[in-house]
Amino acid sequence: MAQHQFQTEVSRLLHLIIHSLYSNREIFLRELVSNASDALDKLKYLTVADDAYKSINFDPRIDISFNKEAKTLTISDNGIGMNEADLIDSLGTIARSGTKAFLEKLAGDAKKDSNLIGQFGVGFYSAFMVADKIDVISRKAGEDAAWKWSSDGKEGFEIEGASRDSQGSTVILHLTDEGTEYTNRWSIENIIKRYSNHVAFPIYLTYDEKEWDEKGEEKGSTTKTDRINSGTALWRRAKSELQDEDYNEFYKQLGHDSDAPLHYIHSKAEGSLEYATLFYIPQKAPFDLYNVDYKPGVKLYVKRVFITDDDKELMPTWLRFVKGIIDSEDLPLNVSREILQQNKILLNIKNASVKKLLAEFKHMAENDSEKWETFVSQFNRPLKEGLYQDFANRDAIQELVRFKSTAVEKWTSFADYVGRMKSDQKHIYYITGGDEKTLKASPLLEAYRARDIEVLIMDDDIDDLVIPTLHSYRKETPGTDGKTESQSWELKAVNRAGADEELGEKQDKAAEKEAKPVIEKLKKALGDRVKEVKLSRRLHDSPSCIVADENDPSIQMAQMLKAMGQTTMPDIKPILEVNGEHPIVTALKNIDDEERIADTASVLLDQALLVEGIKLQDPADFVKRLNRLLAK
Ligand code: ADP
Repeated sequence: MAQHQFQTEVSRLLHLIIHSLYSNREIFLRELVSNASDALDKLKYLTVADDAYKSINFDPRIDISFNKEAKTLTISDNGIGMNEADLIDSLGTIARSGTKAFLEKLAGDAKKDSNLIGQFGVGFYSAFMVADKIDVISRKAGEDAAWKWSSDGKEGFEIEGASRDSQGSTVILHLTDEGTEYTNRWSIENIIKRYSNHVAFPIYLTYDEKEWDEKGEEKGSTTKTDRINSGTALWRRAKSELQDEDYNEFYKQLGHDSDAPLHYIHSKAEGSLEYATLFYIPQKAPFDLYNVDYKPGVKLYVKRVFITDDDKELMPTWLRFVKGIIDSEDLPLNVSREILQQNKILLNIKNASVKKLLAEFKHMAENDSEKWETFVSQFNRPLKEGLYQDFANRDAIQELVRFKSTAVEKWTSFADYVGRMKSDQKHIYYITGGDEKTLKASPLLEAYRARDIEVLIMDDDIDDLVIPTLHSYRKETPGTDGKTESQSWELKAVNRAGADEELGEKQDKAAEKEAKPVIEKLKKALGDRVKEVKLSRRLHDSPSCIVADENDPSIQMAQMLKAMGQTTMPDIKPILEVNGEHPIVTALKNIDDEERIADTASVLLDQALLVEGIKLQDPADFVKRLNRLLAK
């Protein structure tokens, strides 16, 4: 028997692992299963690639068993195995350069060091969190001798000759008292299902099942072996091998959804980064889509091993309706949350995935109108959030968002809008601040309608927040000489001052002059209830309307912010616009009765507010004045 010392780094690493990962110690099983799976992968490769191994009868599997009385847990594989030198190298030193570099960074400060541990794989040594002694009996493929490595995980290890029927490794954990919680069929099944369900090789669990006689007395037990992982890892298989049904079935289990998905996107990247992604778009928006504590839909795997389903950073928030899997070959298994968030590999995968999804949405919009309609009805709003949040992808997203409009029954896009625009129209017009019905009935639209100018109806509650931040819609078109030409249209809210410049003829000086005395009367009567009173260019049938000053938030928005507790908001006062041709307005010319002017002015303002769906501050006052006018 030969005694060996651990390399000093190993002792430090062991110490660190035990102290920083103890609360999450069940991961030891994930690590050992993943080692077994790697060993099977390596041998599998050799049996295909190397003639010397072709004669091996290879039926890859991982076996787990336990013995409650002896307090042991055994994980066995028939993979590549290790000879004496391998055991010394792999389980006695830290061969991986990344880990060495990592250990050099350690400060000796327990807390800081625990945060760092998420950067690398903890692997085999994590088993010392549940065992006070570990034996590894291994025989390397193609060799006859077998070896036993034993250690208590403190100073060093021993190696001696052993015997094993065929190639592979058997890891025997001598469990600590706390470790005995794993000598239990259900806890092992649970851990495997959680972390290793998609490991590509079958994992079997052997256990004793008690038998009972008719009187309910124990009459003995039989030993059973069940396969406990499903091993599907569908996302790692070639697309050509898979049918729609395969994807749909997998989705139902993954997304806990009884409906088939609306769409799936399966892709693999090879090269400097190796990963596979499988994304699904559900038919219906997840019920918690608008909850702050929504459950992220994308799970992270590393080499088919489950890492987390609770990381909101894996996808941008606006894509939270996407379900699926990211499986990286390049990350360590033990990657921690803090590390994930600043990890370059993951950031690259995320960016590429967002691009991929956007391209796929575009393709859907252009080629599959039925799917696209469902998509828009469910996910248009999160796309709008994307416009607001995802600056890098704004150009692509603005081609995808859809709006209601005064010109068409169905959804429309910015591109379609500008396609319909008359040649002399300069801007894109939209109206926000209410439901579709209120907006469509707004007097603000009258003059646009009369001049056949299309207005987009923005009835989502976030439109008021999102659309003004866009400022303009820009479209790139291939130009004549191979260069791209860029054209851009300003977005103008019709409930803002300044959005009326295109409404035909310049303000008629004579009309202005004629209306002046009336405007003055109204100004005086309304005082500081309004910011301004103006002769309107946008009204046709209605006597009055309100607009917000160009740089003010809309009145609806201001009310919403107030309701949400924004107490520092200054009072936003509307601008009242009146229709100089309307009889109510013209009649004011010849009226000097102050009370009557005050009543008319107030009713003109209040009705303009009401028609925009704005709550009046003093409804009783409105009714009183209205009745007084009616009585005259
Ligand atoms: P990692 O798996 O991240 O490399 P580990 O500490 O878990 O780190 O394992 C160290 C090395 O020991 C592995 O790289 C592998 O070469 C070897 N090893 C561990 N378990 C097995 C096994 N079941 N079969 C063959 N080799 C193994």
